Amino acid sequence: MSCRVVVDADVCISSGRCVAERPDVLRFDDDELAELVPGAPDLPDDVGRTLARGCPSGAIGLVDVETGAEIDVD
Ligand code: SF4
Repeated sequence: MSCRVVVDADVCISSGRCVAERPDVLRFDDDELAELVPGAPDLPDDVGRTLARGCPSGAIGLVDVETGAEIDVD
């Protein structure tokens, strides 16, 4: 299963962890909040979960590419 990363900018605390870990997927916007890199690749489910779980504020979510359903990252 592949997933698409989504970021809740209202929850991001600008730790930079995701940006450092996957600069091909996430970057900082002008307010130093994480946002998706344009054209960011979809990720294998397990890779996405690891990325989401590493976010200290829980700002990163995952969506199933095929169904559009939210994926539980816990
Ligand atoms: S890991 Fe989470 S809190 Fe840190 S920059 Fe990324 S989305 Fe924001």
